[in-house]
Amino acid sequence: AAPKPKPEAVVGSAQLGVEVSKDADFSKWYQQVLVRSEMLDYYDVSGCYIIRPWAYFVWKMVQRFFGDGIEQMGIDDTYFPMFVSSKVLDREKDHIEGFAPEVAWVTKAGSSDLEEPIAVRPTSETVMYPYFAKWIRSHRDLPLRINQWCNVVRWEFKHPMPFIRTREFLWQEGHTAHLTHEGAAEEVLEILDLYRRVYEELLAVPVVPGMKSEKEKFAGGQYTTTVEGFIPATGRGIQGGTSHHLGQNFSKMFNVVVEDPAAGNEDRGTEGGEAQKLHVWQNSWGLSTRVIGVMVMVHGDDKGLVMPPRVAQIQAVVIPCGLTVKSTAADRAAVEEGVKKVVATLTRAGVRAKADLRENYTPGYKFNHWELRGVPLRLEVGPNDLKNASTMSVRRDTGAKRSIAVADLPTELPSLLETIQADMLQRAKAARQASTKTVTQWEDFVPALNRKCVVLIPWCERTACEDDIKDRSARTTTDTDEPEDEKAPSMGAKSLCIPFDQPTEPKLVPGETKCVACGELAKRYALFGRSY
Ligand code: AMP
Repeated sequence: AAPKPKPEAVVGSAQLGVEVSKDADFSKWYQQVLVRSEMLDYYDVSGCYIIRPWAYFVWKMVQRFFGDGIEQMGIDDTYFPMFVSSKVLDREKDHIEGFAPEVAWVTKAGSSDLEEPIAVRPTSETVMYPYFAKWIRSHRDLPLRINQWCNVVRWEFKHPMPFIRTREFLWQEGHTAHLTHEGAAEEVLEILDLYRRVYEELLAVPVVPGMKSEKEKFAGGQYTTTVEGFIPATGRGIQGGTSHHLGQNFSKMFNVVVEDPAAGNEDRGTEGGEAQKLHVWQNSWGLSTRVIGVMVMVHGDDKGLVMPPRVAQIQAVVIPCGLTVKSTAADRAAVEEGVKKVVATLTRAGVRAKADLRENYTPGYKFNHWELRGVPLRLEVGPNDLKNASTMSVRRDTGAKRSIAVADLPTELPSLLETIQADMLQRAKAARQASTKTVTQWEDFVPALNRKCVVLIPWCERTACEDDIKDRSARTTTDTDEPEDEKAPSMGAKSLCIPFDQPTEPKLVPGETKCVACGELAKRYALFGRSY
């Protein structure tokens, strides 16, 4: 039997609701929303968190969508071990330099020291590529394209933040090898577009696709493409997902070669073909549980989560209402029947619906409970609704109410959910738009950041300039309660990306337009911002 609710829970107030407003104290708001909505719980190892079913469902939807997408591209799922020997991890110099400070090591088994410490994967390039070398025997084995859904560990020392920056996280990592540079380059963008669609079509979060700067690109790769998100409440950018062209760096280190078919000598193993060896072109790409945090930060409000319908485990909750102390047992039974009928109708129509028939809880308490969890629609069924054969719908995102005939539910509800999904994306787009400023003189750069904006500037694309921008845009006063850390936040702005979709106004004239930060010639517009 279900445990009896505690007395204070019966009162019907929002005692376990969110107590701070999103604007007043964002980081406390974020923590309370996640814990009280039962998405996440804290754990006694810093930087590690428990992902509870309410959040895991979102991840499952992402897995389905992205999993279907890459399956259609012919990419297979696989699984490699989480441990990697230091010998293998050290093979690619730039790569290991990028990751070394964050690698966690296993040094003991029980009380005895291991002969050689073993690393836990921070990502799996070095884990997988020795096997690429083994499995790719000929150009006919290309492209080799695999993906794994797994956990990785990066012992980051920056301030951890649930979902956004954690020491262990879940992700998918794709690793592919191609015969040509172009073949690899094409796939990089195909994957990036799937990432964009995960954000925009599932999570209703707009992103800016673009290229990372040299400073921000993946360690050991040739170039990195990214989808960049934005959190209006804090004015910060966030890297949403990355698709890397690794060039031939790794294939040279791991000796992943085929005979160049263009050279006419196709069979590997014949001697004397050194000159015709071709190092394969490789990509890797990853999307993590960070997506859940971005979704919460973008859509949540002072009442808690606001879930986009496509990823909400419960899309509509049906609650009995309008019963009083004077209501008879027959009234109650009729309303309960009505609720069950509505749920059955919705379920048949493909809507994820649930009845909340808990006794001892007031309707008001239940409203708060489901609002905190962000359920997109609440349907109320009371004696009057029964008489009219209708139900009152209430949107979580806007609070808008509308009476819907029960007979119309199978068509009306799915379309209302899609409307909510589309409206959420539109609102987030408008918020992003309002906080993206094109700046053409340095004097306007930091003030725009301080107004919680991200900034587009004509930029020279030099790393020295990027370092300089970061220093010059650091806050001089501690007007933030969030801890400062090395890689970005309140200290200074970094480049988020060089958007593929370049601003046309004011026109950037190559060889003429100057970099806003340093005065050298600008190459393209770049998006800068404080970021997570
Ligand atoms: P990377 O291999 O560094 O390109 O990472 C791939 C993706 O994983 C990034 O685009 C981030 O969205 C995400 N990610 C990176 N580090 C973390 C972290 N510490 N916690 C959660 N997600 C992360």
